[in-house]
Amino acid sequence: MTDTYVYAFADAAEVPRELLGGKGAGLADMTRLGLPVPDGFTITTAACVHAMHSGGDWPDGLAAQIDSALAALEQRCGRRLGDDAAPLLVSVRSGAAVSMPGMMETILNLGLNDAAAHALAEETGDARFAYDSYRRLLQMFGEVVAGVGAHVFEHALTRRKAEQGVKLDTGLSGDDLRGLCTEFKRLYAEGSGTEFPQDPREQLRLAISAVFRSWGAPRAHVYRRANDISDDLGTAANICQMVFGNRGEGSGTGVCFSRDPATGEHVLYGEFLQNAQGEDVVAGIRTPEPIERMRELLPGAYEELVATVERLEKHHREVQDIEFTVEQGRLYMLQTRTAKRTAQAALKIVREFVAEGVITPDEAVLRIDPAQLDQLLHPRLDASVEAEPIARGLGASPGAAVGAAVFDADTAAARGAAGEAVVLVRWETTPDDIHGLIQAQGVVTSHGGMTSHAAVVARGMGKPCVAGVESAQIDEAARTLTVGDVVVREGDMITIDGAAGTLMLGALPLVAAELGEDFAAIAAWADERRRLRVRANADTPEDARRARELGAEGIGLCRTEHMFMAAERLPVVREMILATQDAKREAALAQLLPMQQSDFEAIFAAMAGLPVTVRLLDPPLHEFLPDRTALAVELAQTEPSPERARLERLADRVRQLSEQNPMLGTRGCRLALLHPGIYAMQVRAIVRGALAAAGRGEAAQIEIMIPLVAYAEELRRMRELVEEVIAEELESAGRELEISIGTMIELPRAALRAAEIAEYADFFSFGTNDLTQTTLGFSRDDAESAFLATYLEAGVIERNPFASIDMDGVGELVRIGAERGRAARPGLKLGICGEHGGDPASVAFFHGAGLDYVSCSPFRVPIARLAAARAALGATGERR
Ligand code: ADP
Ligand code: MG
Ligand code: MG
Repeated sequence: MTDTYVYAFADAAEVPRELLGGKGAGLADMTRLGLPVPDGFTITTAACVHAMHSGGDWPDGLAAQIDSALAALEQRCGRRLGDDAAPLLVSVRSGAAVSMPGMMETILNLGLNDAAAHALAEETGDARFAYDSYRRLLQMFGEVVAGVGAHVFEHALTRRKAEQGVKLDTGLSGDDLRGLCTEFKRLYAEGSGTEFPQDPREQLRLAISAVFRSWGAPRAHVYRRANDISDDLGTAANICQMVFGNRGEGSGTGVCFSRDPATGEHVLYGEFLQNAQGEDVVAGIRTPEPIERMRELLPGAYEELVATVERLEKHHREVQDIEFTVEQGRLYMLQTRTAKRTAQAALKIVREFVAEGVITPDEAVLRIDPAQLDQLLHPRLDASVEAEPIARGLGASPGAAVGAAVFDADTAAARGAAGEAVVLVRWETTPDDIHGLIQAQGVVTSHGGMTSHAAVVARGMGKPCVAGVESAQIDEAARTLTVGDVVVREGDMITIDGAAGTLMLGALPLVAAELGEDFAAIAAWADERRRLRVRANADTPEDARRARELGAEGIGLCRTEHMFMAAERLPVVREMILATQDAKREAALAQLLPMQQSDFEAIFAAMAGLPVTVRLLDPPLHEFLPDRTALAVELAQTEPSPERARLERLADRVRQLSEQNPMLGTRGCRLALLHPGIYAMQVRAIVRGALAAAGRGEAAQIEIMIPLVAYAEELRRMRELVEEVIAEELESAGRELEISIGTMIELPRAALRAAEIAEYADFFSFGTNDLTQTTLGFSRDDAESAFLATYLEAGVIERNPFASIDMDGVGELVRIGAERGRAARPGLKLGICGEHGGDPASVAFFHGAGLDYVSCSPFRVPIARLAAARAALGATGERR
């Protein structure tokens, strides 16, 4: 028996979404609810996956199953594909399990050919409508199936409109459009070397294959990379009877949301275009009108739409993004899906859903994508600065962006990737601009509305967007944006405010955003649910305070090297490093002691009542010395003198200390075993700082952390040293203080020998940045600038291991280290510090590995709090 690949909408309610895709599942669901959905059937993602792996060949039985589903559809509709009296027209629509708006292909009006177009004109008495539909098919089919560039058709259409002296496509007559169809067929044949297939079954077969192929289109690939969606899922293909929004004034098409996707406000929000078909709304061909206009134009359909939208939201218990068409006054629902929205909107909506009793707080926590919270921390315009906008459009995605204006996606991608802030300026974006959007700070379009491509994608990515700035002339070729007599050229700095919908000249100052009340409410639910504690990596009192405001429950990593780098300290640090006699070195260290002490004191005070893990000096000493080449140059220019002698000594020492592989060299505890005085000084400073802060009632719980331990013996010796100094200090102060001593686990050997190491450690903190480098044997900088992009692109690995923990490899070491450490010392405190602490997928992993806390950079603390709660509620970090 062959597998089932085809399901009629009416029979598909129980079929899993992975097979039907989101669109197919939505259509099946709406059909079951008895909503007005055009009839049709879905070909599953499994068929696409099969085709993908066999050079485009369909699985056995698929063609026959399509034939019989089509025959049944023809029966139900009383129309036949290619019939010369009552032709059935269908759309062939892509639709993956995870929504990828606009990334794949859809073909409308399939089934038309010369004879059927004639028949349709006769049947409806409307030649304009029939040939308008046909020219759309020729264009879409030409583009999607035969690879003829859209512009070829667009130019012909534009020329014809000019010839007829009409501005809009709706101004063309039936005759004009029939002529245009003839021209389109010629352009099709010239562009592809084949004739447009007149046989509708051939059209269908080719269209289905093309939809399957569109899963592999470059832009779809880029989108999946950016959204962490697997390449293996495939798309479904939905065959759906056509309904026509292009049948005159009583018809139209639109998109709406059950709540405002930018702010979350509970209002019907959307756009509508009279006498138009499908793509016209999103493609920005004509600027659509706000949905309220439909109330006047088509009151009956509007009322039904409002009721249906409410019903769909209730049914799905989620904000819906809906496509609909009105054909001669009758409403049809074409798609419903969970709406992409800004983080701000998501929080507001979820909170209101809880208040309305629609969802529980658990569900609320699971509904928020932690990675999206990042957006809330995006800067806003500084309200105290007055700047006159040069133009206004629609505030399509909130937040402010500053950057150099660029006029095409390739430039945005290149300059953005090189680290420059750019704002992409387009007439309207298309799915092919996705790589540029990813790299841009924000986007401006002169065309298109709130549901245009740019607006939808920007909201999904949390980037500011100002859409439909109609007063701006954008000339892509000349790379200019002109408003009146103001000209913005490529590279000129501009600022956009995606909430107000304004465009300003120059780089205006931005201020940090606030998380707001909705976040506070949801974070409170998250905090009640999570088991993992969340700390921050902070090296300064300011960072510590910021982290606390964002909900950090301590510092998981306080690095001390920057304390050595400050301009006024560097000379002393160098003296300490260069000293050849112990006495000189001691003197330099004694000078550093009070400086370090005050650093610690301020940080401990900022974290009063909470744990602070201080890592003793980690980097190799030559990082504090001048560059070797620079020194050589300076030497060459210096006459013999005492100064020259000093420079020579310095150069010698730099040569001595320099290493082939500093990352694998004399750092961490290795350094301290050679020069114990440095750690001794740091510990003294820590104890004194802690006592001083405690004296003012600002005691933190101090944890001293030894970096880069590979052997238990290293830690045993370090612990002895640290304990000795602590005891000395406490004795001379006549005070008491609990200080715990632990180590970083950042070398594979340390993870493997965790049992022995635990004997000398009160806690472990997995340093996952170094552990990733040392496990994989490549340095982050070298990997990211050389081969990592290729690895990701070619699918050698799925995720950047420095951004999201390599669960199978590095993660395995974390698990081993945790298990062996705890087995040897029950109650051993376990945490991680490193960027992975703020990555939701990694946080879920650490929750599963049984760690006590994660520590990440301050601005990722809110993300980690939510991710930890979601993990406790069962969310995993596995990719979709
Ligand atoms: P996308 O995933 O890019 O939105 P769709 O498959 O939803 O692609 O279709 C593109 C456009 O065509 C949408 O506006 C949709 O509403 C419209 N459309 C699709 N199928 C039909 C149909 N059977 N009748 C009328 N319009 C349709
Ligand atoms: Mg759609
Ligand atoms: Mg390290």
